[in-house]
Amino acid sequence: MSFQRYQAVVVGAGLVGAAAALALARQGLRVALIERATPRPPGEDWDTRIYALTPANQRWLAGLGAWSRLDAARVQPVFRMDVAGDAGGSLRLDAYAAGAAQLAFIFENSRLQQALWDTLADQGEVALHCPADIAVMARDGLDTHITLTDGQVLAAQLVVAADGAHSRVRDWAGIASATWAYEQSGVVANFDCARSHRGTAYQWFMGGEVLAFLPLPGTRMSMVWSTSPAHAETLTACNPAELAERVREAGRDKLGELASLTPAAAYPLRLMRVESLDAPGVALVGDAGHGVHPLAGQGVNLGLGDAQALAAVLAEFRRAHPGDPRVLAQYARLRAEPIARMQAVTHGLHHLFADARAGWLRNAGMSLVDRLAPLKTVLVRAAMS
Ligand SMILES: Cc1cc2nc3c(=O)[nH]c(=O)nc-3n(C[C@H](O)[C@H](O)[C@H](O)COP(=O)(O)OP(=O)(O)OC[C@H]3O[C@@H](n4cnc5c(N)ncnc54)[C@H](O)[C@@H]3O)c2cc1C
Repeated sequence: MSFQRYQAVVVGAGLVGAAAALALARQGLRVALIERATPRPPGEDWDTRIYALTPANQRWLAGLGAWSRLDAARVQPVFRMDVAGDAGGSLRLDAYAAGAAQLAFIFENSRLQQALWDTLADQGEVALHCPADIAVMARDGLDTHITLTDGQVLAAQLVVAADGAHSRVRDWAGIASATWAYEQSGVVANFDCARSHRGTAYQWFMGGEVLAFLPLPGTRMSMVWSTSPAHAETLTACNPAELAERVREAGRDKLGELASLTPAAAYPLRLMRVESLDAPGVALVGDAGHGVHPLAGQGVNLGLGDAQALAAVLAEFRRAHPGDPRVLAQYARLRAEPIARMQAVTHGLHHLFADARAGWLRNAGMSLVDRLAPLKTVLVRAAMS
């Protein structure tokens, strides 16, 4: 049985865990990363799991050396965002008008995952255990002992839970979570479009439903449709031509005729709140620590924000034990506000648009904001940070 000591053991090597492990190792910490499943290398086809990354997170990933490994031909900058209400209200956010180069970068989940893993492998600073699963976790003084199913024991001063929405580490640490189902599914699919999107992201609030078209390189786009589970089932059962026609119609023919590039996939939408982002020797990051409605496309941005904040706090408390309660409390304090704000905004917007009685208010409000240039600049800058 081997026994290894680490200052930080990150559990889960999705985008957030892999980025967190890289960032902590960069600061000179001795880091291990445990991942249950070896990721499938990306193929030529486009992922349906597409993210819009804020420029702030893009700069951070560039600093870690991962961003430059992405094929630039598969990354799309977003220059404008057109949001339409369900009764004539509209809002356009424009990077150029706000003095910015772009609002966001659209990329594929599997490619950034691969880029992060390649960076980890090249730098060789992080001890990667994959495929590996946890058999037992136990506290030992200030440390946590993690026994893997192959018998290796990792002693961690800090365990970073990046193991997703159903986090086992969170449960083990006794951190309670509350989940609220939106009774909606997110339906995702990619299309080729007859008309150019010119780097514009479109979003329509349609009663309780939200439809978004995210631009992909060339004439492709990625659709995210938050809709009822029954409608999601209908969409996922459609043949490619039917699906393309339904999406074209719902998107008011904005990008002309559509051709399906992928089948539609659906996933349930949930709000998840945790009672705390930390416990003795444990910090939660990414989906382990929060779940948000995807209407603002911010799930992954929030998670990368957690990883950045954790790295910054550990750098600030360089001389302390990484699992020191004061260090972890500082991390939890830093993240409380951005997470609560994003959950409130997405939850509030969902309800505002799901409530038939609020139609006039939300559409008038949207058009009013559209006419107030300074406020729009503030909104654009907030969306990018
Ligand atoms: C279909 C879909 C579409 C989405 N679209 C968007 C979008 O458009 N925009 C957006 O911002 N967000 C989107 N999200 C949310 C986004 O994917 C998440 O917010 C983000 O991926 C969270 O990353 P994470 O690294 O925290 O968790 P995950 O990506 O869930 O990664 C967790 C990792 O931990 C590993 N793991 C789990 N348990 C263990 C264990 N016991 N031991 C070892 N490893 C373990 C898993 O194998 C996995 O690799 C979408 C989610 C889904 C499912």
